[in-house]
Amino acid sequence: MSDSRSSDHSVRDLLRELFPDTHRELFGDEAAPEAPPTLGLYPVADGRLALVHGDQLAEFSPLDPKGRNALHCDLCHYTRSRSEASVYRVRVGARRTRYVTLCLGTQACQKRAGSRGLESLASRIFPLESSFADEH
Ligand SMILES: [Zn+2]
Repeated sequence: MSDSRSSDHSVRDLLRELFPDTHRELFGDEAAPEAPPTLGLYPVADGRLALVHGDQLAEFSPLDPKGRNALHCDLCHYTRSRSEASVYRVRVGARRTRYVTLCLGTQACQKRAGSRGLESLASRIFPLESSFADEH
């Protein structure tokens, strides 16, 4: 998994493996390797999410829920209960971390947020610190 963010190619491979339909939707068939920049949030493993924007990838790791307050999704801006959303930690640099609250049902969440919502989320995360990205 450690090289999953090293290139656009491996991100695509991961998506193709996990979400063949999504992969087809995003990249079309393999005859078109120069697909336009894409943006999306994808469930990967262990409850994590990967935010993909062009050739960049940031990994969102869910935190253990604390307290019982409702959560406010940073993507679709719905208020969610603790069972419907989670706080995720995103490392964006060697010493920089962001916290983002997102719905667990990310497909529906992204549908509500639309591409604008995704773009605004991506603008909070990217670009990753390049020295940090190079380490991996
Ligand atoms: Zn949401």
